[in-house]
Amino acid sequence: MELTDSVKTLKGIGKKKAELLAGQGIYTLNDIIMRFPRKYEDRRNVIPVSELEAGKDQLIHVKVLSRRYSGFRYKKKSPLLLLCEDDSGRIEIVFFNGAYIANLFNAGAEYTFYGRVTENRGGLQMVHPEFHRSGDPDDIRGIIPVYSATEGISQNEYRKMVRACEPLIDGIPEWLPGDLPVRYRLADPAFAVRNIHFPEDGRMILQAKYRLVFDELLTLETGMLSIRGDLADSGDGAVIDPLPADEFIKTLPFELTEGQKQAWKDISADLSSQKAMNRLIQGDVGSGKTVIAEMAMYAAVKSRYQAVMMVPTEILAKQHYKTLNDDLSMLGMRVAILTGSMKQKDKNETLMRLAAGDIDVLVGTHALIEPGVEFKSLGLAITDEQHRFGVEQRHMLSDKGEGINIMVMTATPIPRTLAVVIYGDLDISQIRTMPKGRQKIITKIAHPEDRMVMYDFIKKKLREGQQAYVVAPLISDSDKIDASSAEELYEELSDLFRGFRLALLHGNVDPAEKDRIMTDFADHKIDMLVSTVVIEIGINVPNATIMVIENSERFGLAQMHQLRGRVGRGSVRSYCFLVMEHENDIAVQRAQILTESSDGFEIAEEDLKLRGPGEIFGTKQHGIPELNISDLVSHADVLEKAKEAAQEILRDDPHLIKAENHELKKRVSTMFGDDIRLEL
Ligand code: ADP
Ligand code: MG
Repeated sequence: MELTDSVKTLKGIGKKKAELLAGQGIYTLNDIIMRFPRKYEDRRNVIPVSELEAGKDQLIHVKVLSRRYSGFRYKKKSPLLLLCEDDSGRIEIVFFNGAYIANLFNAGAEYTFYGRVTENRGGLQMVHPEFHRSGDPDDIRGIIPVYSATEGISQNEYRKMVRACEPLIDGIPEWLPGDLPVRYRLADPAFAVRNIHFPEDGRMILQAKYRLVFDELLTLETGMLSIRGDLADSGDGAVIDPLPADEFIKTLPFELTEGQKQAWKDISADLSSQKAMNRLIQGDVGSGKTVIAEMAMYAAVKSRYQAVMMVPTEILAKQHYKTLNDDLSMLGMRVAILTGSMKQKDKNETLMRLAAGDIDVLVGTHALIEPGVEFKSLGLAITDEQHRFGVEQRHMLSDKGEGINIMVMTATPIPRTLAVVIYGDLDISQIRTMPKGRQKIITKIAHPEDRMVMYDFIKKKLREGQQAYVVAPLISDSDKIDASSAEELYEELSDLFRGFRLALLHGNVDPAEKDRIMTDFADHKIDMLVSTVVIEIGINVPNATIMVIENSERFGLAQMHQLRGRVGRGSVRSYCFLVMEHENDIAVQRAQILTESSDGFEIAEEDLKLRGPGEIFGTKQHGIPELNISDLVSHADVLEKAKEAAQEILRDDPHLIKAENHELKKRVSTMFGDDIRLEL
């Protein structure tokens, strides 16, 4: 038997089971043992019957007193009832459809059972417990691993399969190079795999898990660091003198906030150093990131470089173009825009001016990273709302020149640990202060019965010349999901808000139409915009003062915070209504947090606590492969170590060509698949 053998070599695994396993990506014996338990059940202690607690899974050891079939029939079968006792009391064991196992139980013999204890007519019951006869190998007692479910294969069957592979575990070799395992105090792989499946105590699980998590995160980090571009990052950068930015600051009608000043200090140091800047600016919606970007661009141009800013949508590109044009052209800078929807003739002209150095500042969409886009002397590349871009796109932008200073701006207050993975080598600055005089957005929970009052209030505001957003979770009505849809709401509201100008916007509206609607809304040709979350990012309409979030119980905290950030951008008081159709504890707690806090970082932290790690942030959305055993939040400490180790390995062997790194290279390609081009 070998680790590379097919699962079919195991007893009891035929064609059908093998297919079920293949559906989960399990083909070989190695795959079987490399699927780790999701959790453990502590079944070390046998509980006396008198001390059992209803509602809990517990382990008992009892003697069968009698065996009979119930008079009552269930699905045409009579349940098997075993009356059992230990020294402390009695309990009834029930197997519906028990005929096929009835002969396994003999009156007078002792058995161990594990299962959920329930109360039934004053007595205790255990329905369909796991069991084994005393004297059999003890496989339901101890610390029992629980695996992710595979349809058609029971926990017990999976455990048996792992047990059958056990003799192979000692043959798992150390695969990390040199003395790395010693320096990082890692248990060896055989120990780790053995103890993750068959732990003797909690301490063993921890040691085993540490090693396996380390392995996985090392693989992840090696991959992330090898995504085209990052390896070259350590090179020299375009040196930019930050001082001229003061001239730009003087033109601003306001003073920079403390957070902005701090971020600028970080950026200044980066720009003026020999090493290329690689910085992430995290700041809540409205914290004034754009100004910081403008300062950096101004300084870059003054140092005779070009600057580029990439944003995820056409509409944001236009908006930023307008801002940059207003702010920078009067200081003599030549600002231009490049998007996919532009006429080829205009595009070509822009590209020519760009290559000739007749454009200083270029803003655009991902059209910027296309091959024909060539700069004369690009020195600074900024991406806004980075989480919408793949990691690779960021690198493609920085590939437009050599030693380009990179600045990434995001309004998503992701925890630092996650940022470290997503943004590879980026340094991080956070802007945690908001501009002075920013009004707090009044946030209220609205129940369905409050709807008419809310609508009257909104009408009043619209009549005063303000605008409103209404956001629903679905595009159109669904049989499966009980939630409001933008289409349905649009119809209802069109009726209720007769005389006002409404528009409907969602992901299925074609891009040109979407743009037109957003532009109309920005120009106040629309009073109320009914939409899905497509409006979430970036858009700035200061005259919009009302945000209604329908079925708020269906939205994540961070997402609602982002939505709310669409209002409160002007001088007029703004409101956010969280309509709650189906009230539940978590939904109420989340809504409560929003009513009390307007700090995105604080909200993100609370969000994390409520959701628990594991299910945070679709890591997929950030371009991170799925992880098997690790959790980026709770294993933040391991992640840091793993990253350090990955950097060390890549410094020594950037393309992992040494024999000692072969296994790592193999694991990286398996984890990343073909989605991302790696420089390995
Ligand atoms: P972000 O991109 O971080 O969401 P913006 O850069 O769009 O935020 O800034 C939002 C608004 O706040 C803009 O109108 C901007 O001019 C203004 N603003 C930025 N910094 C300040 C400041 N220090 N004081 C007052 N207003 C500011
Ligand atoms: Mg912005």
